[in-house]
Amino acid sequence: MDYLSRRAREIAPYTAGEQPADRKYVKLNTNENPYPPSPKAQAVLQAFDAGLLKLYPPLEAEALRGAIAAAEGVSPENVFCGNGSDEVLALCLPAFFDEDGAGAAFADITYSFYPVFCAFFGVPYTQIPLEDDFTLDLAKLTAAKAQGVFVANPNAPTGIGIPLAQIEPFVRENGGRVVVLDEAYMPFYGQSAVPLTKTYKNLLVVKTFSKGYALAGMRCGYAIGDAALIQGLCRCRDSFNSYPVDSVCQAVCAAAIGDGAYYAEKNALVVSERERLGRELAARGFFVLPSQANFVFARHAACGGREVYKQLRARGVLVRHFAKPRIADFCRITVGSREQNDALLSALDAFLKNG
Ligand SMILES: *Cc1c(COP(=O)(O)O)cnc(C)c1O
Repeated sequence: MDYLSRRAREIAPYTAGEQPADRKYVKLNTNENPYPPSPKAQAVLQAFDAGLLKLYPPLEAEALRGAIAAAEGVSPENVFCGNGSDEVLALCLPAFFDEDGAGAAFADITYSFYPVFCAFFGVPYTQIPLEDDFTLDLAKLTAAKAQGVFVANPNAPTGIGIPLAQIEPFVRENGGRVVVLDEAYMPFYGQSAVPLTKTYKNLLVVKTFSKGYALAGMRCGYAIGDAALIQGLCRCRDSFNSYPVDSVCQAVCAAAIGDGAYYAEKNALVVSERERLGRELAARGFFVLPSQANFVFARHAACGGREVYKQLRARGVLVRHFAKPRIADFCRITVGSREQNDALLSALDAFLKNG
């Protein structure tokens, strides 16, 4: 007797980066920030009054939304918060797409949660192949028949960024449908389209505390857009879970986003390590895509992607390998601290000959 629904039986869930416990790894497989969260955020966590936890969290997360609005230069009514940006992105499907509509469109090589969300919510989707150099031809996405589109900028797992000067005409040309812009890695690029949300009512920018704010364990993400889009997300949230962002998370993330100076400094270090890592990998025979994110996507001239992953894992370094068409020869390597990156390079030197 199978008690599961057809949906639960048939879905192909997203696979997150592994977290093996057999030994201590240099963990460069899930794009976490190598630095700790802001000392101000840590202080708020330590001072948090646990007695408050008997109460439900503030329903509209006013303080957190106010802090996000201040940091992003928008109004609180333009901010929606969720339990990680994954949840915010998931809620975009019921909020902006019909099951019997034209569906969603996105690149063939992009965040692999998009097709999973579509399948889960019964929304059809079209995948637009990236060009041979792994860039996205935005005109092809514009030409796709769809009720709305998803673009990750910078893209994952390629790391390639699209300049804001190309995003604006794209959003304008897609004025008849929603453009969901996933800016999970924008803290390492600095070309956010948030200011465009004031002009373009079809643009929703989704961001996260996980990568740029070193708070992956906190689970908080947010969307910025026209109040009507935000209301759509609220209606779907309130049909599922009214309190996705807990009280501790609201307080800690509000403090974090208020400490922009700390994060600007740490993320600049990540960016300079990214450039060094790119050069060091190239010197070892890797072809490295130009990255604007906190990871690099690299293919070795002689050693396959699966083999690089396996050899590194055996030496205590975790990177991400995707056994998928077009990218199976690549590994996605998170930019770590200088020490972590050096550990990666030493592990590579231990098995790569004549780089
Ligand atoms: C990491 C990531 C997210 C989601 O992160 P959360 O931890 O759920 O906020 C969203 N989009 C992309 C492209 C990512 O890489």
